[in-house]
Order: sequence, then structure tokens, then C-alpha cells
Amino acid sequence: MALPANVSFYNLAEGGMSASYLIVGDKAALLVDTGAGDIDEAAFSSSLKKYAGDKPVTLVTTHLHQDHTAYHRLFPEYYMHPADHAILQGEIASVYKPLSEGQSFDLGGVVLEIVGLPGHTPGSIGVLDRANRYICTGDMVCSGTIFMVDGQCNFDDFAASMDKLLKLGVDNCLCCHADSVVPVVHCKQQIQNVADYKAGKLTEGPGMFGGGSVFTAADGSGFFRPGA
Ligand SMILES: [Zn+2]
Repeated sequence: MALPANVSFYNLAEGGMSASYLIVGDKAALLVDTGAGDIDEAAFSSSLKKYAGDKPVTLVTTHLHQDHTAYHRLFPEYYMHPADHAILQGEIASVYKPLSEGQSFDLGGVVLEIVGLPGHTPGSIGVLDRANRYICTGDMVCSGTIFMVDGQCNFDDFAASMDKLLKLGVDNCLCCHADSVVPVVHCKQQIQNVADYKAGKLTEGPGMFGGGSVFTAADGSGFFRPGA
């Protein structure tokens, strides 16, 4: 991966539907999402133990979709942005703590910062490593198809978040679906995708899970609209 070699990070849900990134510092570790649950629970837990050791692990949620929160129940508490509380799907048997813009987590040698990135959901956030010029972006950046669900998504917020990402001074986005590492410049394409979607210029194809439509740009990125 084209990410700084001095940062220790691992995908605990390697091979699964949604990534679960563990970033390990000298004193502590931070876990970004817990995946879709299609990775064996014992394997997930043993990977966590293997890479984090005895360091305390803070669990942060990029957004509250079920394919990112499957193993939250293994943790006593988790952080998320309060704006996603409204889209909570099912029960997550742990205590929720609110995230706020600019909140930081010092792992020892690695400092991570919360960046609000609404659009995919109202409470979508990124986890930024400013010094090492990368950001975990959940489902906001994707080389493939981004789910945009009515009642949760906002295309104008989405485009504004892309603009925000482009101004952060990072090189790469660490994504949960499709390509793991996507250069931040892809955010320009995603801004164009919003404009093209609104103008009816993306190519409409069959949806997923038996409904909706997928709207795709020439590079293969685009949106899934369940209700379209
Ligand atoms: Zn999502």
C-alpha cells in the first residue's frame, strides 16, 4: 500500500466485505470500524490481540451502517458522530460516546484527528493522520460504487466533504470497500460524479439486492441509489 511505512496499521477484516483498520501507536491503538461480520469472530479477535497486544484500543465508527459495526459488541464502548444516531440499525451492545470535529487521539508517536465528512450519512467522519498525510474515510471515498440512501445521504454535503478532503493536505484515503488505498485526487472525480448524477449524465445500470439503480462514471466510480 502506498502509505507511510512508519505507521503500523492492519485490516482486521482482510478479505471481508468492509475493512476494519487498526492503527497502532507506541502507547495505544485505535480501531476504525469493525467490519461486516463476514470474517470469523475468533480470527478477528486474534488479529486484534496479535497487533494491539496489551495496548488499550479505542473504537471509532466512521458511520453507523451495519457492515461497519458487526463486532462493536466485543468492545465496552465505541465512538461515533451524534448525527448518525438517527440511522442506528439494530442493537449495538456497547456504550456510545460522541465524536466531535477536531477531537484527537494520541496513540504515542501517532496522533489521529476526527474530521466531519457528512454526505454518505449525516454523521460520517474521517480519521486523519495529519503528520503522515492519510485519512480513513469510511464510505465517503470509493473507487467503486457508494451507497446513497434517501433519508441518510445528502449529495450537496457529499460534494462539500470532497472539497474539504482535497484541502486537508493528505495524499491518500484509506477506504472500506473496493480499493483500500485511493489517492485523494479521486475526490475531484467524486465531485464531478455528483454534478453528473444531478445532470443525468452518469450511466444507469441495474441496482443491487434486487432493486434500485447504479449510476456509473467512465472510471467505474459512482452511486447506488436503492430507491431509484
Ligand atoms: Zn456505509
